[in-house]
Amino acid sequence: MIAENLHRIEQEIQESCALVSRNLQDITMVAVTKSVDSIAAKELVELGVTDLAENRVDKLLEKKQSFSHDQQIKWHLIGNLQRRKVKLIINEIDYFHALDSLRLAQEIQKRAEHPIHCFIEVNVSGEESKHGLKPEELHSFVEELEKLDKVYVVGLMTMAPYDASQQEVRTIFSTLKQLQVSVKEKNLQYAPCTELSMGMSQDFKTAIEEGATFVRIGTALFRKG
Ligand SMILES: *Cc1c(COP(=O)(O)O)cnc(C)c1O
Repeated sequence: MIAENLHRIEQEIQESCALVSRNLQDITMVAVTKSVDSIAAKELVELGVTDLAENRVDKLLEKKQSFSHDQQIKWHLIGNLQRRKVKLIINEIDYFHALDSLRLAQEIQKRAEHPIHCFIEVNVSGEESKHGLKPEELHSFVEELEKLDKVYVVGLMTMAPYDASQQEVRTIFSTLKQLQVSVKEKNLQYAPCTELSMGMSQDFKTAIEEGATFVRIGTALFRKG
């Protein structure tokens, strides 16, 4: 079942790329394994998936332990990170998708042994329940990161509301794209901001059409029937 789902998703990613004349190589599919065990995660890796994501620190560490070092998996932490857990995880991951406060950035600075690839999470939709900076806070936040040489801003991340219409989702993603370009145009060495982490099982096609370079897909990979 996983193989079929993966194949279908890869095909849909290809179709979305073709629709807007983008290169397939510019999209990384990150498999979100939070709802499955290590056996399912291993199956994905055997099928060629290179990037795995978890939204909880303990779960990521547990999954990572079940793989051998030479498997060259890229690990993504996609969820909110509490400051007290930074030291446990920050040197174990390849990407952190949910940077949303200066205090968290300062803790990363303190604990990281090398620059960490971070996405700044932006709450584009304005939903109360969502983490992330307000769009209008983004530029001053980026400026404040200049002195933190362990925080390397690869891009921006957002989540669309679960119940948003397709048009609303599209507007949210295109707004994040505009924000990403506006940071990128500053040509900051510590914040190249070339990447966009957006799109999940239900909206990754729209996300790719609007410029996503990392899509985070969970349930669509593990769905039955
Ligand atoms: C769970 C999760 C996903 C994957 O969502 P699906 O709808 O299962 O594809 C993506 N991003 C974040 C931040 C998540 O927590």
